[in-house]
Amino acid sequence: MTNKGSFDINRLKEIVITNNVSLIGEYNYVTRDSLITGFCKTINCENQFTKNFRTLIKNNSYYCDNCMINIKINKRKETHIKNCGFSTNLKCPITKEKRLYIFKTKFRKRIRI
Ligand SMILES: [Zn+2]
Repeated sequence: MTNKGSFDINRLKEIVITNNVSLIGEYNYVTRDSLITGFCKTINCENQFTKNFRTLIKNNSYYCDNCMINIKINKRKETHIKNCGFSTNLKCPITKEKRLYIFKTKFRKRIRI
């Protein structure tokens, strides 16, 4: 095990093994800003990702841009369902009430002016 803050070739090798990532190209020397290219981890996706070493470690994401968008959307839905039981905030009756209230109060102010 290498120390947590290091950005060296051993850390990269460790990440490749523990996360089952396929990298493209040879890496003999890396720094935290080195660009790392590899194959997207999504099954049936043949795209590649290129991220700098620091981002790779920080976000722990080995997916292409397209898959990252899908992952984000799904994560957002999951969070909304967990928090209010609906897939989007717009469907939640509590926020619907709040929106209506804000709209009404702002609308009334405009009329007074
Ligand atoms: Zn992908």
